[in-house]
Amino acid sequence: MKRLKHEPEAVAAKYDISPKRVAKLLARHRVEEGKGFRLKDHDPGDTGGQSMDKDEAHALLMGGVEALSEHQEKLYAQDQWALLCVLQAMDAAGKDGTIKHVMSGVNPQGVQVTSFKAPGPEALDHDFLWRSNRALPERGRIGIFNRSYYEEVLVVRVHPEILHKQDLPKKLITKHIWKERLEAIAAYEQFLARQGIVILKFFLHLSKDEQKRRFLSRLDEKEKNWKFSVNDIKERAFWDAYQEAYEDAIRATAAPHAPWYVVPADNKWYSRLVVVAAMNHALRGLDLKFPEVTAEQHEALEAARKQLEAEA
Ligand code: ATP
Ligand code: MG
Repeated sequence: MKRLKHEPEAVAAKYDISPKRVAKLLARHRVEEGKGFRLKDHDPGDTGGQSMDKDEAHALLMGGVEALSEHQEKLYAQDQWALLCVLQAMDAAGKDGTIKHVMSGVNPQGVQVTSFKAPGPEALDHDFLWRSNRALPERGRIGIFNRSYYEEVLVVRVHPEILHKQDLPKKLITKHIWKERLEAIAAYEQFLARQGIVILKFFLHLSKDEQKRRFLSRLDEKEKNWKFSVNDIKERAFWDAYQEAYEDAIRATAAPHAPWYVVPADNKWYSRLVVVAAMNHALRGLDLKFPEVTAEQHEALEAARKQLEAEA
């Protein structure tokens, strides 16, 4: 892991980043009510009025990851709630890097990452929530979806030919299908929330210009070539259709129990800080505690101590 050049607390003090300030910034990116939501009200270049150098941002991020790790231990020990983070974005918005950083300081046993690619024949033989449902985090765990069931109202909507390969009964494919799918997703998330799964959805909101810059750097730098797929350019041509599909999806599914974070993604340091802060914010809200030892358990622990001490 990269060495810290600054102490997280020192950076937070220098930039006057108090918990209150962080909560305010998060509120500005959080969408809990879809009505009236417009993507164009959110600037991909927003950095909450901050600019800091890479090392300072890294120190802050590691501070956030440490806090996350502490929450996660309690989440695991308490074994009641689960946290599901859904990550959605256009190509090169930084999903993979975000996941890598979030994961860098937490116990791997408590976190599971699932990447959703185009569904294979087995998934296509089921309803569209089937494979997500199988990948949900168990109680006490954090689940990260790298893409998700939202692809069913994003890529499938932008390319309706995918829909026609899904073997749905023809009668069920009507002009209402996207609205129906969004309703299904909203109802599913309501259900999950009532089962103790805390849902956070992140849209890493990248500008078209910044995507171009990142694609070009993937082409220019040899060691980044592998990240570039020719398909990425094809999808870029559908930029506006994707933005509309995202806007619609956020409108239809933002709710207090399943908020969207529209994360400005043109500056990676900022988007990563927002994601980790949002996870910490949600976990803090659960007021997690290590399970208390009952009098009976305490007695058993004391008996175990005596037994160990009596050993020759
Ligand atoms: P990277 O950022 O590393 O490229 P990625 O998430 O883009 O990662 P890819 O393997 O490049 O991974 O792409 C996965 C593809 O699978 C995406 O184009 C996505 O739209 C597609 N996909 C995911 N879910 C579905 C779905 N339900 N139906 C059709 N396509 C899907
Ligand atoms: Mg890709």
